[in-house]
Amino acid sequence: LVSRENHDSRSVVSVRGVPIGGDNVTLIAGPCAVETPEQTLEAARMAQEAGASLLRGGAYKPRTSPYAFQGLGEEGLRILADVRAETGLPVVTEVVDAADVELVASYADMLQIGTRNMQNFALLQAAGDAGKPVMLKRGMSATIEEWLMAAEYIAQRGNLDIVLCERGIRTFEKATRNTLDISAVPVAQSLSHLPVIVDPSHSGGKRDLVLPLTRAAVAVGADGVIVDVHPRPETALCDGPQALVQEDLAGLRDAIGTLAALT
Ligand code: PEP
Repeated sequence: LVSRENHDSRSVVSVRGVPIGGDNVTLIAGPCAVETPEQTLEAARMAQEAGASLLRGGAYKPRTSPYAFQGLGEEGLRILADVRAETGLPVVTEVVDAADVELVASYADMLQIGTRNMQNFALLQAAGDAGKPVMLKRGMSATIEEWLMAAEYIAQRGNLDIVLCERGIRTFEKATRNTLDISAVPVAQSLSHLPVIVDPSHSGGKRDLVLPLTRAAVAVGADGVIVDVHPRPETALCDGPQALVQEDLAGLRDAIGTLAALT
């Protein structure tokens, strides 16, 4: 179902009217985690300034350590819905448990499945049933074929509104948080009709790498980019070192707008 075979053209996924795919390079931006209403609204305003048309933000955070901030849960979803009402930005947010899919889908415009859950098949099926577009991040140790098969679990439930997201993979290299597999973008686009976007924040793991990796993503033909921004990253409860700050926003806007016009 997700294979390029039998599909003459590549798909465009609409998230509350915002297209991902086709001629667009869609910017999704926002805080890694929803922390407070003020922080989320400030981050959403930053996202808009950078040219984003969708707001990201985690209310359920799948953290490596059980002692780390796990997200605000439903309160975070309510904050995202309030910020959507204030800014007009549709909301992309992660769901980590099949039991929460209905609740998250009642607030979100797009469900995000994170790297750690790429092969959580019960979650994929529940997301496929939820009636909302799904962003499927690549498992950090998954092959492209495994990633596409995971997408197939969602598609099998009758939901073809799926966007693939390359977010870096595990390699021997320790200088970056993950290794951005930039070749996965054209490879996945050649094997599947689904749009393919890139997460330069979670791949590089460092603020200074986000703009260069964004430029690489746009140059290689990605259908969009999802980026962390934070008004005060030094106080962030999650992934502060990779969040873009106010001074980076013009560069982000340029990386997407100017380069996208050239490709
Ligand atoms: C995220 O985008 O908030 C996230 C946790 O990403 P990943 O699943 O790629 O680590």
